[in-house]
Order: sequence, then C-alpha cells, then structure tokens
Amino acid sequence: MKKRVYNFSAGPAILPEEVLLEAQEDLFSYKETGMSVMEMSHRSKAYDEIFSGAINDLKKLLNIGDNYDVLFLQGGATLQFSMVPLNLMPPVNKADYINTGAWSKKAIKEAKRVGEVNIAGTSEDTNFSRIPKQSDLKLNPDASYVHFTSNNTIFGTEFKNEPEVGNVPLVCDASSDFLHKFIDVNKYGVVYAGAQKNMGPAGATVVIIKKDLLERSSDKLHTYLNYKVHSDGASLYNTPPTFTVYIIGLVYKWLLNMGGLDEMYKRNVDKANILYDYMDASDGFYKGTAAKEDRSLMNVTFRLPNEELEKKLIAETNAAGFSGLKGHRSVGGLRASIYNAFPQKGVEDLVEFMKDFKKNN
Ligand SMILES: *Cc1c(COP(=O)(O)O)cnc(C)c1O
Repeated sequence: MKKRVYNFSAGPAILPEEVLLEAQEDLFSYKETGMSVMEMSHRSKAYDEIFSGAINDLKKLLNIGDNYDVLFLQGGATLQFSMVPLNLMPPVNKADYINTGAWSKKAIKEAKRVGEVNIAGTSEDTNFSRIPKQSDLKLNPDASYVHFTSNNTIFGTEFKNEPEVGNVPLVCDASSDFLHKFIDVNKYGVVYAGAQKNMGPAGATVVIIKKDLLERSSDKLHTYLNYKVHSDGASLYNTPPTFTVYIIGLVYKWLLNMGGLDEMYKRNVDKANILYDYMDASDGFYKGTAAKEDRSLMNVTFRLPNEELEKKLIAETNAAGFSGLKGHRSVGGLRASIYNAFPQKGVEDLVEFMKDFKKNN
C-alpha cells in the first residue's frame, strides 16, 4: 500500500482509515450485488438500505426524535445559505444573523436577497478572533429565525454553547464541526452541514429540520429549493449523491463503534489540547490567533514571529509528510485542521516537529 501523509486539510478533509479500507473492499462489488455503490440505482433495495441505515445511525448518534426530518441534499452548505431564508424567512421576512466570519457573511449575503437581516452580533472588529458574548447579542424576539455558524473554519473559533434565543427557531451552519460532540438537536430548528469537513466526501449536505418548520415552505418556491418537497420525497426527489451518502453511512458506523459522540468529543479535546498547550508554552513563538475561550477544537490557527518563518515552517512540514498546514489568506499563518478522523499521533508528531523548528530558528 502507498504511504499516507498526515492530512491537515480544512476540507475536503481526512477520513477514517477503517472507512477507506472498507470502501475499497466494497468498491468492485458491494455485498452480493455484483456492482459498486456508484453504479447502482438510487431506487434499488441495496441503496435503500444504505440510505435508511445512514439516517437511522445519525438519529442514534444525535438522539434525533420523530419531530425532526433528516435530509441529504446537494449544493453544499452554500445552497443552504439560500434555502434557509427562501423557506424560513416568510412571512415575517426578518431574520437575525450572528456574524462570526467568512461563512457567516456568505449566509448573510443570500439572506439579504430575501428579506431584512439584523446583525444580532459580530466580531468583525477584531478580524473574527472571538465569538460575541450572549450579553452582547441584540436579538429580535419576532425574527423568523436566528442563524449562527457553530465553528469558524477559517478563523479557528467556535461557539462552546449555542446562543440562547428564546422561542425563535435557531438555525446552525455546522459544516466544520458537525458530530465533533453531542448536541441537543431539540434546541434547534435547523442544523445543516456540508459533508466534506467532518463527515465524508464532498457532494452531500445533511439538513436536520424540525418538522413544524416545513409548513413555512411556499409552493411558489422552485421545486429543488423547497424543503417540503425533499421531506415528502424522503430525499429522493432527484438522484441523490449515492456514493457520498454511502461513505457518510460508514463514518456514522465508525462513530457508533467508537462509543458515540461523547467518546469522540473526549478524544477531540485531548487531541486539540496537545497542540494548544504546546503553543501556549512556546514563549510566544507560536501564537494562537483565536481568543483562548473561543478556540476551535477542529481548526487550530496560529502565527509565528514573522511571515518568513511561517513560509519556512510550511515548506518544511510539507517535505516531512504533514500536508495542508497553510492558513487561509484572510488570517495568514498556519492552520491545523484536526477533524474527528485526524489521529492523535499526527498531532503529537507535529508538536515534536514544531519543537525542533523553534530550536533551529
Ligand atoms: C466549508 C464551509 C462552507 C461551504 O461549504 P460548501 O460545501 O463548499 O458549500 C460553509 N460553512 C462552513 C462553516 C464551512 O466550513
């Protein structure tokens, strides 16, 4: 087998090795079907089992009740930036958005095409290095919903708890931290997440939606953009991303076999602490860009004393088999994305490498 690198990519991102090996085994012929999942009808019995198995496993992982629907859609989290306001803003046509970074901004841009957007909180004044405090939020009790981004992939911050929004439905873009810990879905109207950060390959977006919100979807909407159509059609209104859903299903099984999301969270905390603790003890050589209390467990962003050293470290890590550490241009520096599937050993080896680099520079 060819050697694998430590993959710190922000997305599409690393998948569990067990999942890849199982998929490899199934690739030529899935079970007794004589064909791969890529080649089979989305209306076949075999695919139906893959699909309903994935949904049931997600329901188990998050303890999702029958008052919620789980949809697998396409168009990425990006299409949800439009579908959320198109379906849920009317008839009030006012929504609250918390602006914590580049992805929030893109969501806000699309919502403004549909109705009035109130920026209920923002951290733009500090280049999104923190999460606005609950006491600073200016929420409209009559809003159609409140939208927030639970983990800010680019800026390396995350909400430690969901904002408290009273009776207004809470909508969350959880693309880059979905399933990194247990969340109480009952607190949400909608949770959506593109697959390719923490859950599977690109091509599918999971949307968990409270069923009573489906009443808001107008018949006038374009058919594919209507949540109710996908709910009524059990995510089979058109051809779903079958192979992606299959891999996502394997990832759900991997999480269940591990012991579920509390165990996953424990591992994520341990893993991220190895890196943050070392950075904090490096006498300012490695400086985290996010406020300590808002640091992401998924995307660790940091800077070195100057850009030359940053370039040098990125080049040297690449040569040593650590891939994808270059930070996003809007923050600079480095970003280590250490999603669920990223092994603790990879973080430990990176820290050893960073220690040597500091010594030599
Ligand atoms: C990557 C990302 C997106 C965009 O996802 P696409 O699948 O490319 O549309 C949206 N929100 C967050 C938080 C992301 O990390």
